[in-house]
Amino acid sequence: MTTLLFDLSGRTALVTGSSRGLGLALARGLAEAGATVVLNGRDAATLSESVSSLVGAGFDVHGKSFDVTVSGEVETAVAAIENEVGPIDILVNNAGIQRRAALVDMTGDEWGAVIETNLTSVFLVGQAVGKRMIERERGKIINICSLMSEVARPSIANYTAAKGGLKMLTRAIAVEWGPHNIQCNGIGPGYFATEMTRPLYEDESFNRRICERTPAGRWGKPEELVGTLVFLASSASDFVNGQVIYVDGGILAGL
Ligand code: NDP
Repeated sequence: MTTLLFDLSGRTALVTGSSRGLGLALARGLAEAGATVVLNGRDAATLSESVSSLVGAGFDVHGKSFDVTVSGEVETAVAAIENEVGPIDILVNNAGIQRRAALVDMTGDEWGAVIETNLTSVFLVGQAVGKRMIERERGKIINICSLMSEVARPSIANYTAAKGGLKMLTRAIAVEWGPHNIQCNGIGPGYFATEMTRPLYEDESFNRRICERTPAGRWGKPEELVGTLVFLASSASDFVNGQVIYVDGGILAGL
């Protein structure tokens, strides 16, 4: 009975930025819970490889390549997914990039690209999917936030501003669309080894500092985000709205 609460059979999910990294692990987790999943990324070759590997593993998985920062592409892609695959019940806003630079040297392009990809994209994709969810009076939106939704670190002011903004956009969506039975929550991952964090885990002293500061004493494994995601994507969380759950091995609990 309890497990039925977490069952995603019959639901369709779009996970942005899921051709690799955390998004791919999150997409796989939703598929394992029974959902039909649409993967996304800009690079069509990487996307198609990831779709093939999940289809080969027996999951109902599709791919749609589009850039989450380009409004016209987003609307066309969302309309196509709803026609070809089905109404989107679950949207995971995961696509993100990092452009590290000291704040005094940061260029307008470095600032803008990170704000566009990590924050404005959630407005664009959220609006395209959200208006359809509103018509159906049902939907789950999960935004992938960060420790940087709460705390800052030198060299990533653009990312910190975007992820802090994303926490508040999560709340804004929750209050505006909650009356339409749409729940919007966030997941704040701690440190997980992916392409994005390669410069960090390859830096021996940074790596050591993270392991010392994280009560769990290690980096996270992408599949460790899946339980929280399935909870937030399923009816188990129907009265949970506007929250960010940090899956970080306890790092935010300490100073
Ligand atoms: P990766 O760099 O490994 O993967 C990023 C994914 O996003 C790729 O599939 C990439 O594909 C896609 N992407 C990037 N830009 C766009 C775009 N404009 N349109 C569509 N897709 C895009 O990153 P991670 O897996 O590490 O990060 C995923 C999310 O998790 C990000 O939001 C990140 O901020 C967040 N996060 C990650 C943490 C970590 O420790 N790794 C910690 C906290 C948060 P392509 O380049 O082909 O478009």
